[in-house]
Amino acid sequence: MIKDLDRFDTASLILTEESVFGDMYLVEASRGCQWGCRFCAAGFMYRPIRYRSSDKLVAQAEHGLSERRVIGLVGAEMASVPGVAEVAEAVADRGGRLSPSSLKADCISPRLASALARNGNRSVTVAPEAGSERMRRVINKNLSEPDIIRAAEMMVGEGVENLKLYFMCGLPEETDADVLEIPALTARVLARIKSGARCRVGRITVSLNPFVPKPWTPFQWDAMEDTASLKRKIAMIRAALGKLDGPVELEAESPREAYFQTLVSRGDRRVGKILERLTIRRCEEPGEIWRELREIRREAAAGGDELPNPDCFVTRAYDYHELLPWDFIDHHIHKWFLLSERGKARFEHQSKPCDVTRCTVCGAC
Ligand code: SF4
Repeated sequence: MIKDLDRFDTASLILTEESVFGDMYLVEASRGCQWGCRFCAAGFMYRPIRYRSSDKLVAQAEHGLSERRVIGLVGAEMASVPGVAEVAEAVADRGGRLSPSSLKADCISPRLASALARNGNRSVTVAPEAGSERMRRVINKNLSEPDIIRAAEMMVGEGVENLKLYFMCGLPEETDADVLEIPALTARVLARIKSGARCRVGRITVSLNPFVPKPWTPFQWDAMEDTASLKRKIAMIRAALGKLDGPVELEAESPREAYFQTLVSRGDRRVGKILERLTIRRCEEPGEIWRELREIRREAAAGGDELPNPDCFVTRAYDYHELLPWDFIDHHIHKWFLLSERGKARFEHQSKPCDVTRCTVCGAC
């Protein structure tokens, strides 16, 4: 494990428009995360939290600005990186633009919002993740609605025109009432932005992703919700957003794509055979993959033993006593700790953020 990130530069090496984020120069700002959101693999696998110093980030950003105008900050959560506002200002002073991967709403300072809004930053993502306060306690988001609304108002007030609000649906313990809080919260954000004197209303994009359970997280035992139920929830959200009086659009990830992600995320070595079959049959487009997976499912249900039923890895909750496919990989996180976090989720209890100076509870420090 690298304790001091400053000793190793981690930034874009291959610069081509052909790649994902090809228009940016990417710099890694942190590894791990202090907040402990219970769905997040990066927040558990890469513990404990480590930050690159702001001096180093500015130096790397300066180098990147000779290649690209936009510097992408990579890490789990960027608003709590020490000195991030100074880095954003330094980039803006040199005519560039900082693009952070994700911002925790209650950590966005006015200085950071102002620096991000300079040099044409027209769109920023804020991630409430869940619509209701209850669900945010379940996932350990440690984020209140006033924090979200304040952040949205501040970003738009500083000149950011378009806001992206990132949510998940199909989370463990979720009810329809929680789902309907996603459009309701969006409506309240929109109303507040419209009422602000300095606020120009641009567009609010609700980015909605079905929950995909990930290894080494407290939700690793949970099933992905079935696709029909997710489609119904997405339709509910779409209908409610459609009634809002304002420029709001919905970008929803397909539940079928989430199904495939969960299969790869949660499967064991037998998934290799399924991937082999998808390759042999030349399934590349999401629709082709989905059709083939349905075929494999039908074969397995009819008693075929050539391939496992993909549902066994996707829509089946794993037993707490089960040996999990990834248990042999050691990320220095106690399994009992993940289980205790799962239990706290059930009772809507939140855990405190990491204090790496004295805590040893999860095993990573
Ligand atoms: S030991 Fe404590 S401070 Fe360190 S990563 Fe685990 S929970 Fe966070």
